[in-house]
Amino acid sequence: MAANSAALQPGRVRILKEASKSAGQNVGPVVYWMFRDQRVRDNWALIHAVEQAHKANVPVAVAFNLFDQFLGAKARQLGFMLRGLRQLHRDLEETHQIPFFLFRGNAEDTIPNFVSECGASLLVTDFSPLREVRKCKEEICKRVSDFVTIHEVDAHNVVPLWAASEKLEYSARTIRSKINKKLPEYLIEFPMLQPPVTKWVGTSRLIDWDSLIDEVLRKGAEVPEIDWCEPGEKAAMEVLMGSKNGFLTTRLKGYSLDRNNPLKPRGLSGLSPYLHFGQISAQRCALEARSIRKLCPEAVDAFVEELIVRRELADNFCFYQPHYDSLQGAWEWARKTLMDHAFDKREHIYTKEQLEKAQTADPLWNASQLEMVYYGKMHGFMRMYWAKKILEWTRGPEEALEISIYLNNKYEIDGRDPNGYVGCMWSVCGVHDQGWKERPIFGKIRYMNYAGCKRKFDVDGYIAYVKRLGETKKRKAESLLGRKAKELCT
Ligand SMILES: Cc1cc2nc3c(=O)[nH]c(=O)nc-3n(C[C@H](O)[C@H](O)[C@H](O)COP(=O)(O)OP(=O)(O)OC[C@H]3O[C@@H](n4cnc5c(N)ncnc54)[C@H](O)[C@@H]3O)c2cc1C
Repeated sequence: MAANSAALQPGRVRILKEASKSAGQNVGPVVYWMFRDQRVRDNWALIHAVEQAHKANVPVAVAFNLFDQFLGAKARQLGFMLRGLRQLHRDLEETHQIPFFLFRGNAEDTIPNFVSECGASLLVTDFSPLREVRKCKEEICKRVSDFVTIHEVDAHNVVPLWAASEKLEYSARTIRSKINKKLPEYLIEFPMLQPPVTKWVGTSRLIDWDSLIDEVLRKGAEVPEIDWCEPGEKAAMEVLMGSKNGFLTTRLKGYSLDRNNPLKPRGLSGLSPYLHFGQISAQRCALEARSIRKLCPEAVDAFVEELIVRRELADNFCFYQPHYDSLQGAWEWARKTLMDHAFDKREHIYTKEQLEKAQTADPLWNASQLEMVYYGKMHGFMRMYWAKKILEWTRGPEEALEISIYLNNKYEIDGRDPNGYVGCMWSVCGVHDQGWKERPIFGKIRYMNYAGCKRKFDVDGYIAYVKRLGETKKRKAESLLGRKAKELCT
């Protein structure tokens, strides 16, 4: 069922739970439990929460829950996220007078407790298709009182997932026209965020961001932070539109030519970390890209295809396919062909540890693995080669899938995302792809090899580039150690 609201298209909001008892005169505040869309600007869930608060003449607050463990996130991902949230906290409270509350533990406990403590009547949340988040929401629906209504707003997709399609789509071809048909309705400018009319009673609790960040960095030190990608909404807009190095302002022209060249990482937009953590809205990126389409139509069309069609297809897969991360989630033809070849002889079989340490006989694959480990963002073209080789070098498709998802989620700054699950499923299980000429191990799954890469780009140049990344990282780590030792001695 859709919930109506003035600025939002009704189709963007779903009612997860309708209060079964009326609060009468005592309507409580609105709480927005922010999960996936960690931004103030261009956020339909926040806009909806503020608007509902206006209508009921009640205050509004934003709550965020930091899970003790979420899909294996390490210092790299958590540091980026928390630094972004620290800015968001400041911006929400200082510019918009909306309090921000941070909780730790399980959202199934902390969010219903907060809703009950502050007497909220409406809980708004954003949308994620991943099963952990959906299970958590089901539990929250059960735990809040009968006076509480829960709205879910798809603030991540340009066309809300449930409005784009009501079923599992077969490929980009089948979802593209459905999305395009809805773009005139959904790809619109955002309204301004209105200041709250009623003030929150009491102050939000103080958050010691420095200690919190120190703690997660210590606990997740196995995968350290990256320093080339500044977190936060402001930095995200800079990457999109900045005058110095912005994608649309300075790099767009090269996108159609360079995006498949791993030696030119800046040929891609570089937006995936921000899109993943919701520090920028895909709708904002699409609006800005479309406004300059006549300058570079080919590049804008290619970018919008990835940003909207491919990205939203990934959400569709994870939402409608419960087995989105296992062989069971592959199409029948793919499962059959993979099983037919499951026992084919492999030239090499590597363990998870050997793969993780980049100890294969293929220097190109090792470089791609190390690009991910050092830099935190493997080039998009290499991600395909990387995952397909894991299929070739492990004991079967299930193991290949398990290892590729594990490594992707552990090291990629944009990992633990529907795009990551689908990227691995596409590479290993042919999801959203078609059958190709049958060959050993792969069966009819699309194949990629070293010779093909050599024809496409300067393989040795890429290997040398990653080696330099490793050397720079080592130098920085040594100088940091040196500084720390000096501090200890003085
Ligand atoms: C094995 C494998 C693993 C992947 N893991 C992830 C992941 O963990 N997180 C992630 O965001 N992407 C993943 N991708 C998809 C894609 O490689 C990245 O989105 C892209 O490289 C990110 O860089 P960019 O933002 O600079 O790309 P751009 O080309 O500038 O793309 C802009 C945006 O479009 C979307 N996009 C681009 N390519 C795809 C695609 N193939 N499928 C869905 N959406 C796409 C992303 O949101 C991206 O940020 C994976 C692909 C494969 C084959």
